[in-house]
Amino acid sequence: MALVIVGLYVVGWLHSDSLANTKLLIPIYVAILATVTACASLMAYIWAPQKYIHFVALALFYGLIATSGLLLEKTGLTSSPFIVLWMFLGVFAGLFGSYGLIPLILLVNGYLLADFVLFHNLNTPSDFIVFGLAYELPLLASYLLWHPKSAREATGDRAYSALAKELSQVANKSEIVINAIADGVIAVDSSGIIQLINPAAQTIIGWGKQDALKLDYRSVLKLIDKSGQAVTEANDPVQHVLSTNENVVTNELTIVTNSGNKMLASVLVSPVGHSSAGAIIVFRDITKQKQEEQQQAEFISTASHEMRTPVAAIEGYLGLALNPNTATVDEKARTYLNKAHESAQHLGRLFQDLLDVTKVEDGRLSNNPKVIDVVAFAEDVTTGLNETAKAKGLVLLFKPKIGAGGLTKHLNPVFYVNADADHLREVLANLVENAVKYTKQGDVTVDVTGDNTQVIISVKDTGIGIPPEDASHLFQKFYRVDNSDTREIGGTGLGLYLCRRLVETMGGRIWVKSELGKGSTFFVSLARLSHEEATTRIEQSANVINPNRPTINPDHQAPPATNPQKT
Ligand code: ADP
Repeated sequence: MALVIVGLYVVGWLHSDSLANTKLLIPIYVAILATVTACASLMAYIWAPQKYIHFVALALFYGLIATSGLLLEKTGLTSSPFIVLWMFLGVFAGLFGSYGLIPLILLVNGYLLADFVLFHNLNTPSDFIVFGLAYELPLLASYLLWHPKSAREATGDRAYSALAKELSQVANKSEIVINAIADGVIAVDSSGIIQLINPAAQTIIGWGKQDALKLDYRSVLKLIDKSGQAVTEANDPVQHVLSTNENVVTNELTIVTNSGNKMLASVLVSPVGHSSAGAIIVFRDITKQKQEEQQQAEFISTASHEMRTPVAAIEGYLGLALNPNTATVDEKARTYLNKAHESAQHLGRLFQDLLDVTKVEDGRLSNNPKVIDVVAFAEDVTTGLNETAKAKGLVLLFKPKIGAGGLTKHLNPVFYVNADADHLREVLANLVENAVKYTKQGDVTVDVTGDNTQVIISVKDTGIGIPPEDASHLFQKFYRVDNSDTREIGGTGLGLYLCRRLVETMGGRIWVKSELGKGSTFFVSLARLSHEEATTRIEQSANVINPNRPTINPDHQAPPATNPQKT
C-alpha cells in the first residue's frame, strides 16, 4: 500500500499540470513517509527475526496508518479519493487483535470528537454518514472478521505450542534415555530399515550411526543360530516380530560384529504399534555371563557329583546300622540314627536334583524323542511307585486301567507322543512322588486323557493342596510353599522346576489346579501323534536302529519294566 502511495505520488508529479487542481496530488511528506514505510517493510521481510515478526508487522501497520491518515487529512477526509486506502487498512486492523483495533478506534473517534470541538471539517449530516461508513464501518467489519478467528487461533496456538513443547521435552528425554542405555537399541520400520541406532548398539556391533541408518537391519545386525548358520526367515526374531506382532526374547543367538567377532547375545525384539509398524531390537553381549554361568554350573555339577558319593556311603552305613540283622543299637541311638538317615537321604536328593538342574541349564541335557505309548508308559511308572505309596498308607490308582466305577476297562484309546522317555519318566515319577509326599491320607490317581492334538497326563491327590498365591510360583527354582503343613516335609524346591524344564524340552506344558486342604492335580500336556504317524516312525526307527526290537510296543502291551527312580 505504501508503494501504491509512492507510485501515485510519482504519477502526480509527472502530470502535475493536469492534476494541479484535483485532490489526486500527494503531498511530498506523505510520499516520504510512504517510502520509509515501504523500505522498512522490505527490510523487515528480509531481516526481521521470526521471534519479533508480530511486533515488526504491527509497527509497520502503524506506519501505514500514519501515512494514509496524513494523506486523507490533507486530501479532504470524507471527500478524499484515497478513502478506499483507509477502508482497506481498517479491515486489516483486526488481524493484530486489540493492538490493531483499539488504537485505530481511538484515533478515528478521537478525531471525530476533536472535529466536533475544534476543526469543524465535518459540517453536514452526510459528512458524518460518509465518515461513519468510511472510517468506522471497516473497523467494525474488521472486528467481526478477525476477532473470533484470532481468539480461536490464539487458543489453538497455545494448545499447539504446549503440545509441541511437551513433545519436544519427551523426545529429548527419550533420546537421553536411549543414548544412556548400555544395551544396544535398534529401531526398524515395517520393511526392516534401520531408523534409530543408539551409541551402545554402535559400539557393540561396530557400526557408525550414519553408516547404519537407512540400511536393512540384516546387513548391520548379523545373527547366527546355535549351529553357526545365519538366521533365516524361520528363526529370525525380527522377522517373527514383524510378521506376528509378538515379543521375542532369546539368549540362543550369536551376533557377528562388523569386524567379524562373535558374541553370545541376549536379544529382545518388541513390536511397535499394533499392525507390525516396526520393531525395537534390544541386545546385550552375554558372552561373559554365559561363561560365568557355565563355570558356576560346572562347579555345582562337580561338587554335587563329588559329594554324592560320600553321602551315599553315609546313607548306606546308616542303613546298615539301622538294620537289626546287621547291627544292634539301643532305642535312643536308633532315634538319632533315623534322623541322620533321613538327613543323609535329603542331602542325597538335593545333590541329585542339583546335578539334574545344572544339566538342564547348561544345555547338556540331550533330548532323544521316541514314540511312546503314554498309557502303557504311565502305567509302568505308576506301578513302580506303588510301594512308596503303600508305605505311606496311600492308594495309588491308575485310572485308564480301572475305568469309571472301578470296573476294569479294556477299550482305552491309544495315545502316542514323540518324547524323550527318560525325561517323561522323571517328570511323572516326580509328580507321583510329590503327590505321595504331600498327601497324608486318601489316594493318588494317575490318568491319561486327550484329544486329537494333545495328550494330557494328570496326577491327582487328596493331599494338603496349594495356596492360590503360591500356585503360579511352584515351577520356579527353589520355590517351596512355606506353611505349617509343608515345614516338616523335606524337599529342595527343585523338583517341579526340573519338571517344567524337562516338559518344555519335550515341547509340552505343565500346570497345576489345586484347592487348599482338599488336594491338587498336576497336568502335563504333550503333542499327540496320530496312530499312522506313530506306526511309520516306529517302523522307520526299527529299521534303522534295531530291526528286531521296536522302540515301543504299538500293540499297547506293557513295556519292559524299568527303574522309575531318579538316576
Ligand atoms: P520339593 O522338593 O520341595 O517337593 P518341588 O519343586 O517338587 O520341591 O515342589 C515345590 C513345592 O510345591 C513343594 O515344596 C510343595 O510345597 C509344593 N507341592 C508340590 N507338589 C505338591 C502336591 N502334590 N501337593 C501339595 N503341594 C505340592
